[in-house]
Amino acid sequence: MSNKKYDYDYFVIGAGSGGVRSARIAAGHGARVGLAEGKFFGGTCVNIGCVPKKLMAYAADYHAHFEDSRGFGWSYDKTSFDWPTLIKNKDAEIKRLNEIYQSLLNKAGVTIFNNYASFIDNHTIEVGNQKITADKILIATGGHPVLPDFEGADLMMVSDDMFYLDTLPKHIAIYGAGYIAVEFAHIMHGLGSKVTMVYRGDTPLRGFDKDIRDHLAREMEKQGITLKSETVIQSIEKADGGLKLDLSDGTKLECDVALSAIGRKARVDNLNLPAANVEISNRGEIIVNEHYQTTADNIFAVGDVTGGMELTPIAIKEGHWIADKFFGGIDRPTMSYNNIPTAVFSRPTIGTVGLSEAQALEEGFDIKIYKSDFKPLVHTLSGRDERTLMKMIVDQKTDQVIGLHIVGLDSPEILQGFAVAIKSGATKAMFDETIGIHPTSAEELVTMR
Ligand code: FAD
Ligand code: NDP
Repeated sequence: MSNKKYDYDYFVIGAGSGGVRSARIAAGHGARVGLAEGKFFGGTCVNIGCVPKKLMAYAADYHAHFEDSRGFGWSYDKTSFDWPTLIKNKDAEIKRLNEIYQSLLNKAGVTIFNNYASFIDNHTIEVGNQKITADKILIATGGHPVLPDFEGADLMMVSDDMFYLDTLPKHIAIYGAGYIAVEFAHIMHGLGSKVTMVYRGDTPLRGFDKDIRDHLAREMEKQGITLKSETVIQSIEKADGGLKLDLSDGTKLECDVALSAIGRKARVDNLNLPAANVEISNRGEIIVNEHYQTTADNIFAVGDVTGGMELTPIAIKEGHWIADKFFGGIDRPTMSYNNIPTAVFSRPTIGTVGLSEAQALEEGFDIKIYKSDFKPLVHTLSGRDERTLMKMIVDQKTDQVIGLHIVGLDSPEILQGFAVAIKSGATKAMFDETIGIHPTSAEELVTMR
């Protein structure tokens, strides 16, 4: 298998979710593997994404936990929150994870280059001032957040910055209504900031089931988060130590931080792709076939840099697939992108898998909808006015459950197991035959009438 003509059998660019997994597995299959990382081990997810975001969401949740505990008999004089403590403890945990990622690569026998890499030709890479050759090369460079295009947009922050703010903003304006906007709205509101979300659509989270989106929007407003829908920012200027936003509805919005959460772009600008004949789409994403092969057939790409669903488990699975297929001799079927479960760490959280009602109708399914909208048991004593919505979409012809959507407490944890059932083709009758676990919210899913 090893081609001694080159320094490495496999060279991976980027030590994020996809790159680390692919390098480790390929090395485990006996390949001589090199890897370049220009910034941080673990990539976006570990350093400025999923992990610190979830830690901050936990911190935000305590706000409600403290309030809710009174109904259960707890009392306390007052609570206070210290932002620098959260950031310091978060940083320590991320540093620990960085070291684990590096040591996993070292233990697997991967040679690490701590620098950015770019192409000289389709078998040669420049890392720092070193030239390295490789038989196969993986591009796993992820993406980066983008800023909108209006006057003063450079005064905005992006999600990367939110993990390193010196102080908690008093009032944050969040632009956009996707995953990042909604999650940071929850985090900042929970930690004590006033939050205003400004977005061009009618409801947050386009692409999710409409009932789930409406339910979340109602819950966010009940908590005191301001939602300015069908509104765009026209310009931003500095004002009184903060920022003044000029909005399309004719109003001005003053805040101390404005977060741009309008999506991400593939990180290709630093790779010198033309030298390797690797082509990108008009959206700037690397074009790959179902084997993750780019337009240069010895060069592969996975994860966010290829577009698609920007989720860590997808980048990991794709990276693993390549390593098995091309270095392990394992003839794996091409990856299926149906029924990918996903979660939004808002308050309440969202867990979802399969088709939304609109998608099911668009695809021509004859569907039956089951819904349950209820107050979770914990809130009977907590006094919190927060409801859970569960929605199941069933194909009437086959009785298969083709969509399951929850907005409510613990929904990501609930959904993961149900995603296995749905991926396995479970029917509504099978759900009905399953005995519930009482008293839980999840039992609703096996008792829907
Ligand atoms: P990345 O993880 O971005 O890794 C790319 C790596 O390549 C980086 O370390 C970068 O420094 C390096 N690099 C770039 N260019 C070069 C170069 N030329 N040479 C060397 N190295 C280079 N997904 C979830 O599944 N769940 C979540 O809860 C979740 N939350 C998120 C929250 C936020 C705020 C963000 C921004 C993203 C979140 N995501 C989440 C998405 C997830 O982080 C990404 O889908 C995932 O990290 C993609 O992995 P990747 O391997 O494609 O790239
Ligand atoms: P999203 O694509 O999820 O959302 C982008 C938002 O910005 C949408 O509301 C979109 O509106 C709006 N928008 C896009 N362009 C413009 C523009 N030019 N002007 C005004 N508004 C605009 O991107 P995010 O940045 O929130 O997140 C990036 C990706 O990272 C996600 O798609 C997800 O895959 C991943 N991620 C996953 C998480 C998780 O798994 N929990 C958490 C965080 C991120 P419209 O809908 O109208 O197009």
